[in-house]
Order: sequence, then structure tokens, then C-alpha cells
Amino acid sequence: MKIALIAHDKKKADMVAFVKEHLNIFSTHELYATGTTGSMLVKYTGLSIHLKKSGPLGGDQEIGSMVANQLIDMIIFFRDPLTAQPHEPDVSALLRLSDHYEIPLATNRSTADLFISALEK
Ligand code: PGA
Repeated sequence: MKIALIAHDKKKADMVAFVKEHLNIFSTHELYATGTTGSMLVKYTGLSIHLKKSGPLGGDQEIGSMVANQLIDMIIFFRDPLTAQPHEPDVSALLRLSDHYEIPLATNRSTADLFISALEK
């Protein structure tokens, strides 16, 4: 599966911990990530990840473009619900496209855990 990983700044440590915990699963899939999230994941997990631009600089739109072209099968996006994001329109656009194309998208750890359970089957 082609899986996109994105985390807002205050959620990046959670994303690294989450991916580390499920390294055996993630290592068997093709991974994409926004720039800063992806760089941290590469550094702390050693996984091979296709890096897009940083989210606020177009990375969310790049992932959205992949969704529109049906090149992404799943998105795990740890959002920060307590901090205003300058690129909120890009985030909304990504969620909108994911709904349109019916791409499973987890925006928090609990939902992401359910996705992992599904991937394990
Ligand atoms: P980043 O982008 O991984 O480059 O920080 C994530 C986002 O805020 O959309």
C-alpha cells in the first residue's frame, strides 16, 4: 500500500513514536510524507520514505494531488486541534479530496491504531 504520513508540529513526536512502534508493518509498505515529518521519520526510524515539500510550503497539496491521481491508498495525519495552522486551507483541501476519493484517513492515534489492525490482517 502507498501510505502518506503527516504530522503537525506538536504531533511529530507522537508520529515518530507511533511509526517506531509499528516498524514491522510500515517497513512493508511504500511511504510518503510531508517534508519535516518525513525527515524526522527517516532520522529516527531509518525507514525509506518519499519526501514531499513541507506541509505549509505545498506538501499537503502534493499529497492531495497524489490522492486525486489515485496514487495514495491511506493517510495518517496527526493533526493538532489546538493550534491555528497558516496552511489550514491546504489541510481542508486534502481532507476534502480524501473524502471524495474515499481514501481512509486517520487524524488521531486511536483511528491510526485501527488502521494498523487492518493492515496486520
Ligand atoms: P511538515 O508538514 O511535515 O513539513 O511539518 C506537515 C503539515 O503541517 O502539514
